[in-house]
Amino acid sequence: MKILTIVGARPQFIKAAAVSRAVAKFEGVTEVIVHTGQHFDKNMSDVFFEEMHIPKPDHHLHINSLSHGAMTGRMLEGIEGVILEEKPDWVLVYGDTNSTLAGALAASKLHIPLAHVEAGLRSFNMKMPEEVNRILTDRISTVLFCPTSTAIKNLENEGFGKLENEVVQVGDVMYDAALFYAEKSRKPAFDVPEKFILTTCHRAENTDDPKKLANIINGLNEIHRDTPVILPLHPRTKNYIAKYGLQPEFQMVDPVGYLEMVYLLQNCSMVMTDSGGLQKEAFFFKKPCITLRDETEWVELIEHKVNYLCHVANEGEIVSLFKQVKGEDIDFEVNLYGKGDTSELIVRDLLGRKIK
Ligand code: UDP
Repeated sequence: MKILTIVGARPQFIKAAAVSRAVAKFEGVTEVIVHTGQHFDKNMSDVFFEEMHIPKPDHHLHINSLSHGAMTGRMLEGIEGVILEEKPDWVLVYGDTNSTLAGALAASKLHIPLAHVEAGLRSFNMKMPEEVNRILTDRISTVLFCPTSTAIKNLENEGFGKLENEVVQVGDVMYDAALFYAEKSRKPAFDVPEKFILTTCHRAENTDDPKKLANIINGLNEIHRDTPVILPLHPRTKNYIAKYGLQPEFQMVDPVGYLEMVYLLQNCSMVMTDSGGLQKEAFFFKKPCITLRDETEWVELIEHKVNYLCHVANEGEIVSLFKQVKGEDIDFEVNLYGKGDTSELIVRDLLGRKIK
């Protein structure tokens, strides 16, 4: 069996690291990796391949820094060429980026079976590019690997029970990664205070809105006076902070590799983020999380009161929520994302399927 894996953005490298390691355990399975180039900086891409021992991409398309339409279109063309050359049995896509959608479209138009990892998630906010990517990808996938029972319910509500796609609940590959790399975490080279809040921010809905980004930065400035804040800064956010003339007073560092991220997760006292992946990682490492968004795809975290939504358009909400969550006694003892064997379940499932 030959699997063609499409990756392009940071969270996909982390997910692919877990699945590639599982693929290597099975005889008779080969994986060909295509890197679209969507994330390309050393600290947004290469570091993950090196540290997490992800096989070097077999094809690199170098497509980045374009509008959504141009990027997705060029990726579609590029991936189509690779599929025609490699003739895989499966195309495997992850998550919700433009690389995901381009890979899905290329496979489905060539009638190559398509597997979507992290299927069925919904924010119900169609203005998010990620929501459009995931809905379209789900609809044309042959097999949808869902991380949670909420994802299964979302697909049922959209009528997937009546469609030809196969829907399977397997758990979350990011949990596999967190378990595997927990012992390999590495202290970053910059100063890490004994107690701190770990923050990330990169979603377009926050960075592209001057008022929201100002509320986030000003709120973090105030929180920093109580507990030090560390923000590994996404390149997109860096540009917007400069563009809007905002003045962060807390510690900003370059994006870190996954092993350093795990160290920060293990040692922080709280996470504040608009990242999808980091919300779950906060939970894996038993840290309370404030999500800097109006909604989340990971609703089970909200239901279990380990994660709190912060409407960042409201000035001051980030600070008041911080004070509230700081005082909460949070119970993390619930299993929401599988057993840490999701990657193997995925490879086994693909091997067991008759390719039509
Ligand atoms: N991450 C990292 N270094 C950083 C910021 C994030 O390794 O400086 C990891 C993080 O731990 C998580 C993944 O990148 O595993 C999340 O990616 P991102 O927030 O870019 O995307 P999202 O999850 O929102 O799709």
